[in-house]
Amino acid sequence: MVRVKIRVTGIVQGVGFRPFIYRIALKNYLKGYVRNRGDAGVEILLEGREENIKEFLRDLEEKKPPLAQIYEIITLSLKGGKKYEAFTILKSSEEAEFSGSVIPSDIAICDECLKELRDPENPRYEYFFITCTDCGPRYTIIGRLPYDRENTTMREFLMCTFCNSEYVNPLNRRFHAQTVACPKCGPKAYLTTREGELIENKDPIREVGKILSEGFIVAIKGYGGFHVATATTKDEPLVRLREVKHRRQKPFAIMARSLEAIKSFAEVSVKEAELLTSYTRPIVLLNKSENYYLSDLIAPSLHNIGVMLPYTGLHYMLFDKVDEPAFVMTSANPPNQPIIRNDDEALRRLGETVDYFLFHNRQIAHRCDDSVIRLHNNHQVFLRRSRGYAPAPIILREKAKRCTVGLGGELNNTGCVLLGNKAFISQHIGDVENIETRDFLENATKHLIRLTNSRVEAVACDLHPKFTTTKLAQDLAEENDWQLIRVQHHYAHIAGLMAEHGVNEIIGVCCDGYGYGLDGEAWGGEILFCTQESLDFKRLAHLQKQPLIGGDLATRYPLRVAAGMLHKKADIQNWLLQNQQHFPHGEREIEIILHKLGKESSTIKTTSCGRVLDAVAAVLGICYERTYEGEPAMKLESAAIKGKDMLKLEPIINGHVLDTTQMLLEIFENREKCSKADLAYSAHLYLARGLATLAVEKALENNVKTVGFSGGVACNEILALIMRKIVEASGLKFLVHEVVPPGDGGLSFGQAVVASISPF
Ligand code: ZN
Ligand code: ZN
Ligand code: FE
Repeated sequence: MVRVKIRVTGIVQGVGFRPFIYRIALKNYLKGYVRNRGDAGVEILLEGREENIKEFLRDLEEKKPPLAQIYEIITLSLKGGKKYEAFTILKSSEEAEFSGSVIPSDIAICDECLKELRDPENPRYEYFFITCTDCGPRYTIIGRLPYDRENTTMREFLMCTFCNSEYVNPLNRRFHAQTVACPKCGPKAYLTTREGELIENKDPIREVGKILSEGFIVAIKGYGGFHVATATTKDEPLVRLREVKHRRQKPFAIMARSLEAIKSFAEVSVKEAELLTSYTRPIVLLNKSENYYLSDLIAPSLHNIGVMLPYTGLHYMLFDKVDEPAFVMTSANPPNQPIIRNDDEALRRLGETVDYFLFHNRQIAHRCDDSVIRLHNNHQVFLRRSRGYAPAPIILREKAKRCTVGLGGELNNTGCVLLGNKAFISQHIGDVENIETRDFLENATKHLIRLTNSRVEAVACDLHPKFTTTKLAQDLAEENDWQLIRVQHHYAHIAGLMAEHGVNEIIGVCCDGYGYGLDGEAWGGEILFCTQESLDFKRLAHLQKQPLIGGDLATRYPLRVAAGMLHKKADIQNWLLQNQQHFPHGEREIEIILHKLGKESSTIKTTSCGRVLDAVAAVLGICYERTYEGEPAMKLESAAIKGKDMLKLEPIINGHVLDTTQMLLEIFENREKCSKADLAYSAHLYLARGLATLAVEKALENNVKTVGFSGGVACNEILALIMRKIVEASGLKFLVHEVVPPGDGGLSFGQAVVASISPF
């Protein structure tokens, strides 16, 4: 007889792992126990014949549950005689010795549960929170480890006899499923007025479906926060929603009843359908189809629309009694605030916005927004990596030399814990500009450190002296005696890209809206040479510096950027005056702008690619005011989709600078001769060709084989595809992000990577 102790690290709690171990132990005639540990790992003790243990270990790797991920199996031979008469699942231990395991993300309702939801014979017939070991919430309900019911927000719901009988039955799918519940013992849903007064209704969820289809606005509590929902085929509720939410143009995500329904208004490729129906159920940006018939107010002036499929029983039931193809389902977050998770907070902050509330009585332990993905020609691009993904780690090719934390920049932020060859990136945090989002970032990051049992040595942040995250990093460094490392914004983007692909040197093209440069200036159209060995980067080239009249005002009103770019080459006074309605202070403001441009030396300058795209959008009359991040550039891309290159512009490169003035001038001068679509496309082509040409030139000069593209602008499909063509045509490799967002949601990861290789 042999005795062994096995420790398994990975995603092994909350995925039906112990029941699986129980089954393969029995199958192989083994005695002993299995239990969860406080470090998110699992501990197994086996007694039996050597060949049976070998077979057990084979089963362990080959037959593991679909959601489980095994990182490491540590086997230890034990001395001593036989101790166990049977194989049992023991009470979890609090012991936390190993690092790097984690709990799973929330998982969409599985097919089995969906079948039971629809089966009148099943005790969980029409139960909105039906789940099993293969599905349901995880990350959003777990307060602490190990993953046992009493450590989750399910602890308030005492299992009934029926649920318990399944919970203890090794042959049942819900054996040891911590989220097991039924209509009798589980969370309940209820409908209230906007003031929170209960509205008696036997079928509140389907009632909400009806209310939505009639054009009312309802706040719906889900797994990781509240959504605000309404109809998609009527304009009236959307006008109202935009008014009260002060979201004039920002696209709303929608939830469709089925894949068939989606195909009636959007184009869906095979890969997109796979993503939409996968257990992560992200929002996927889909091109609107020719016969798009939903309200134009959902995603105004954009060629695409963010769509997801139902991921809980509740979502499916919303559609039962109505014919609606889809409902708007947008995160309920007040301006500059994280998504709402508490009931009273929802009543307080959303009462004015919505007509009704659909609550359930389970608490949300951790917020989690929906993830957003788009495909560039079958390449997956994360616009937001959150529900369904966080906190599962990204596995890297190389092990980090030490454990670090990255706190990101300012907008669209996340936190990241880098440990060994794994990067644990938090859910979407949002714009960290105030105390609420700062606390959210701090708590989410600390929660990740605890979950993974990490011993952090350094914390990284941006170079920007005034970012809230910079201050937070300083505080945490002091509090915990961690080394503080500040990383230049675009270097962090490219370092992340390098780590994702395991490359040691790269010519990185990094384009976004804004990042604090080494010289304190506003960077955002950079070509960097980065190597692992030098632990540093060189700025080899960039876009032409352009004046940013009024700083942040120029970001909000892109005509200001256009004026700054054109004023030396064209007589723009009349043109600006013709557009004076697009300046909040009209003629007077234009006068001041022109005056300031006269003595240009005193204005802030930027190399931002985002601002150049904004300026083109303004010149073409596509967008005069940025009401949400990326708006002018996104609308410009939408306009360019059907365009052709009529201008035939050759990139003008002066030394290490790509000229942008001449390009804008050509567009300005042809704005009445060519179509907006063609000019928008020409602008994209110019920038993509210019950047790719420069990058290839620098790669050849430095004998580098790889060119990468990162930064928020890399979400732009037209730019990414043209650049890829040019770079690959010159025999070089072209890399883009696959598992981390190219935008600032990936910044914390890149910072953590730089911190892990910095001298210590
Ligand atoms: Zn299930
Ligand atoms: Zn029950
Ligand atoms: Fe950025």
